[in-house]
Amino acid sequence: MKLAEFQKRNPILFNALTFHKNHKGEYLDFENYPYLRGIYADASRNLGIMKATQCGASEYAVVRDFALAMAGFNVFHVLPTDRILTRYVKERFDKSLFFTPEYGGAIRTNSVTMKQVDKGTISFVSSNSTANFTEFPADDAIIDENDQCDQDNIKMVEDRLANSTRRSTYIVGNPTITDFGIHARFKQSKQYMWHIKCPKCGQWYHPEFLTHAVEQVDDNVWTYKDHEWQQTDARDPFMFHDCGEPINRKQDGKWIAMNPGAQDSYYHIGKEFSTQVSMRELCAAFSRGLDNEAEMQRFYNSDLGLPYTQKGSFISVDELNAAVREFPRVLSCRSPCVCGIDVGNSLHTVVNHILPDGSERVVFIGELKTLEDIKQLCIRFNIISGVIDAMPEIRMAREVSAFRKWYRCEFHSAKSFDKIEMRHIADGKKAMVNRTEILDAVATKIREQRLLLPRDAASIPDFYRHITALTRVFNETRQEYNWVGERADHYLFALAYATVARRITGISV
Ligand SMILES: [Zn+2]
Repeated sequence: MKLAEFQKRNPILFNALTFHKNHKGEYLDFENYPYLRGIYADASRNLGIMKATQCGASEYAVVRDFALAMAGFNVFHVLPTDRILTRYVKERFDKSLFFTPEYGGAIRTNSVTMKQVDKGTISFVSSNSTANFTEFPADDAIIDENDQCDQDNIKMVEDRLANSTRRSTYIVGNPTITDFGIHARFKQSKQYMWHIKCPKCGQWYHPEFLTHAVEQVDDNVWTYKDHEWQQTDARDPFMFHDCGEPINRKQDGKWIAMNPGAQDSYYHIGKEFSTQVSMRELCAAFSRGLDNEAEMQRFYNSDLGLPYTQKGSFISVDELNAAVREFPRVLSCRSPCVCGIDVGNSLHTVVNHILPDGSERVVFIGELKTLEDIKQLCIRFNIISGVIDAMPEIRMAREVSAFRKWYRCEFHSAKSFDKIEMRHIADGKKAMVNRTEILDAVATKIREQRLLLPRDAASIPDFYRHITALTRVFNETRQEYNWVGERADHYLFALAYATVARRITGISV
């Protein structure tokens, strides 16, 4: 193949193998990172990496930015926040530009958020600004640190590509929890896993810390597969293949698709085969995790490049079952009740009866359709306080919040804000609460069995599914906890709004 033809067919691999230099002025190192070759060579339309930190993969985005722009494409490159965006552009992109003469000769416009390189343009965008997600017509979209990005905004990335014939994506990041973000995308992809061939038994296998470095002997009791190794030894512990052969982590290998029928090409990279991290360090991080769930999450996400869902970070079916009591759902109630309504395609609604001891029974669970349904509910139940989702059906929320004792609820993210704030405004009444804090309060009420569920709760369509849909996760970028998930969560929010309504009543728990 002629060089020009190769460059046209795969500009990313071409730049990587010929002139690209990184922020240190070095050429790419495929000797120490043999697993990166296959990724650079993969010209699939939708590509992604679910990765550990420090595994050499972050340079790929810089190569892709330049190569596609030089080939005449427009690149829409999303990063979680302005701070991370600026750091990427200044520390990675601009330094690569400085060290690579071919890039220096091609640059036309050069601001922090907009770079024109030959005929293509790269637009750097922070994920938390909605305004940034309109207008720019892109051929390629890059989403960096996917799980740290604003998940609602990155859904709009697809629109940026609508008028392109190329319409390619590259999505990368550390995973967080199971079935969320980069892990959800990885599961739906070809699922490329790095395999090496055992020199003793000849088997191709994927080197894995949890299979080849340690083994579980009892509940929460693990031993090293390297039985002779002790922490005071000068040497690192070995991983062992199933046949007993010690594993050479630096050995060359190949990518094997575990789900070859899928369309998208996503790769998993853990530190097991990254040569920059010692086995001793990995073992130390794992053993810290055995005593501490947050450390274990960090070890899985950052070191193994795998998702991890901490115990107690979501409301479980067992916890819901424990809150079930022998009472029926009812169609009317004269005792004091609070009501919460989540607005989606329908109005997911709960009514909680407040018992004399301060605990609550969920006595109505169902989907309403219209404003008239809400009025009927108010007639049948003695609702002393009601709260409805302020978005997305703004008109209905306004009308309902004009009812006596009804508020519409908005979330805000101010960290210091853990109390409810109520405002009487021209078009109704508004309650503002911290989203994380109010969902925490719902989880606590269920766990402490102060929010009791009717006897048929488990069989109510979607009820358990919605309540278990979200997981409480620490967002590294924002340095705060958020409840996140990909499944529908309407009844969970109905309970959250009912919890806001309860606070408005001032009746203590
Ligand atoms: Zn073997």
